[in-house]
Amino acid sequence: MALDSKVPQGPLKDKWTSYKDKINLVNPANKRHIDIIVVGTGLAGGSASATLAELGYNVKAFAYQDSPRRAHSIAAQGGINAAKNYQGDGDSTYRLFYDTVKGGDYRSREANVYRLAEVSANIIDQCVAQGVPFARDYGGLLDNRSFGGVLVSRTFYAKGQTGQQLLLGAYSAMNRQIARGKIEMFNRHEMLDVVVVDGKARGIIARNLVNGEIERHSAHAVVIASGGYGNVYFLSTNAMGSNVTASWKIHKKGAHFANPCYTQIHPTCIPRSGDYQSKLTLMSESLRNDGRIWVPKNLADVKAIREGKKKPTDLSEDERDYYLERRYPAFGNLVPRDVASRAAKERCDAGYGVNATGEAVYLDFAAAIIRYGTEQAKIKNITNPSEAKIKELGKEMVKAKYGNLFQMYEKIVDENPYETPMMIYPAVHYTMGGVWVDYNLMTTIPGCYAIGEANFSDHGANRLGASALMQGLADGYFVLPYTIGDYLADDIRTGKISTDTPEFDAAEAEVKKRIDFFVNNKGTNSVDYYHKKLGKIMWDKCGMSRNEAGLKEAIEEISALRKDFWENVTVPGEADEFNEQLAKAGRVADFLELGELFAKDALVREESAGGHFREEHQTEEGEAKRLTAYQFVSAWEYKGEPKDAVLHKEPLVYENIEVKERSYK
Ligand SMILES: Cc1cc2nc3c(=O)[nH]c(=O)nc-3n(C[C@H](O)[C@H](O)[C@H](O)COP(=O)(O)OP(=O)(O)OC[C@H]3O[C@@H](n4cnc5c(N)ncnc54)[C@H](O)[C@@H]3O)c2cc1C
Repeated sequence: MALDSKVPQGPLKDKWTSYKDKINLVNPANKRHIDIIVVGTGLAGGSASATLAELGYNVKAFAYQDSPRRAHSIAAQGGINAAKNYQGDGDSTYRLFYDTVKGGDYRSREANVYRLAEVSANIIDQCVAQGVPFARDYGGLLDNRSFGGVLVSRTFYAKGQTGQQLLLGAYSAMNRQIARGKIEMFNRHEMLDVVVVDGKARGIIARNLVNGEIERHSAHAVVIASGGYGNVYFLSTNAMGSNVTASWKIHKKGAHFANPCYTQIHPTCIPRSGDYQSKLTLMSESLRNDGRIWVPKNLADVKAIREGKKKPTDLSEDERDYYLERRYPAFGNLVPRDVASRAAKERCDAGYGVNATGEAVYLDFAAAIIRYGTEQAKIKNITNPSEAKIKELGKEMVKAKYGNLFQMYEKIVDENPYETPMMIYPAVHYTMGGVWVDYNLMTTIPGCYAIGEANFSDHGANRLGASALMQGLADGYFVLPYTIGDYLADDIRTGKISTDTPEFDAAEAEVKKRIDFFVNNKGTNSVDYYHKKLGKIMWDKCGMSRNEAGLKEAIEEISALRKDFWENVTVPGEADEFNEQLAKAGRVADFLELGELFAKDALVREESAGGHFREEHQTEEGEAKRLTAYQFVSAWEYKGEPKDAVLHKEPLVYENIEVKERSYK
């Protein structure tokens, strides 16, 4: 199928404005006759639902949690970018666009990114109007901090709880529409298939997770806002429930998938502590504003620290290697995530990891505490403050900025990060790949859209910090509400879509068959048994460093694991009750298919990009060479403009892959 991105002609900066001027619209009276299903009520789906309903469409919103307030978006800590230039430090729409494209190793769709940068400023106004309590500076104006890969401060934040506060804003906007009857909210409902009628998305099959009932829902368009699929790795910073099912189901019915293997490996997560862990915890990137990353310079000190004979605080400045500051003086600790992650892995692979497993580096706030404390002493007119007083004042400032993150760290690691440096290590965090969409955010199924983390378009091979919330809310508040009208303008006379059709019958029957299989199979292995095994293959062979032989093995191993799953999985409980294991079985079944596509995508890419580096590289002379993470220089790291070879790579896009191992009839 030939893909048409529908990117408008004309200069980048004029595309969105002139496109909006000419786009088809649906008049307010006709909107009342049009139904839209939104799957997902995180920041992308919540903002889209509220805005579409405000415009007059009838929205049916679905979420598997018990409230939109519990979507994974609530976990977002650090902030949201916008090109407001409140700091007067040289920011602009173009600079946000440029940073995003460069940060993604030149693999994003530029027209979408320019539009994102343009609407970013509106998002902040919208959220402030909703009452989102963004942090303010001393004079009462909105405050900003800096995130990786940029040289300005453009990140708006609400302590370490930005996602939660933004979600409460979107949720309030949704609630207004729920009260008006314009949004019908289906909490605890999981979409298990999309229904395509005459080539158009016309509804979904959903399972009521409380009583197990299978329901049919129809609409004139379906919007997928179901988030990312980092949990294919089992261990990630994502919420436990985050999954690929909605995206995967539409993929199976014709929606292409783009760049599936581009995963963000976030540099600042709490290291894994053992084999029985089911979740990884993020320490927000905002901490890199003030925290300095280092490992000991000498292996003897590493050994002494690991053996408990020395503490990190025993090491003098001279004995520490602040490797990011050394290698990237202009950006220092605020290099993009992929660069910071690869650098941490390189140091740990070289033997400098500071915990028992050798997979940790330090994130140290001692210097920031002294800096802030000294400043506060001056502000408070304390002459000749003692070191203890300076530290006390400094800690208060650090607490005000990052208190909840420090508390979380202490609860998990049982060490006080005000006194001793945090230990951090890269972990799976975000998926840049996802459902392919055109400029309208429509997938290759007419009438089916994908927004937020579920789509692929804006972040290339690496997302810059604080830009996921920006994209989700841009899509939901400002882009989709325009572009969907272009498609729906042809549907104003269609009338209600019936659910009593062969297409709904067939989709429902398939969903029921799969559920019956799960509750009746009575195999020997739990769903988690398979999820963990899949995660290990993914991390070991499709993680940060990849090579041809490992990826080929991964494809075979995933296929064998999937075969085993369909023969031997066991799901306790029944279909007609609240059954978390049953819900998880379906999600893991989809991860087992996605994993294979993921590895195939990684295999055909003979490139290093974002957080992934291919160990075999061709040199310019055509010679094959094995590279380590350290030797690979990403497009971001080129001095000046990158060479043509790394510029503007088109996405790799996949149609449905054949999966043969499914054993039920
Ligand atoms: C710990 C952490 C911190 C982060 N911090 C930041 C940050 O500071 N700044 C930033 O920009 N980004 C941050 N991110 C990334 C950002 O939070 C996410 O990318 C973003 O919130 C995704 O929003 P979303 O609306 O696309 O999806 P989600 O918030 O994941 O919402 C998905 C929705 O889909 C629903 N759903 C899924 N599948 C189905 C189904 N089959 N049927 C029905 N409903 C379904 C869920 O119920 C949910 O409502 C962070 C991520 C993590 C993990």
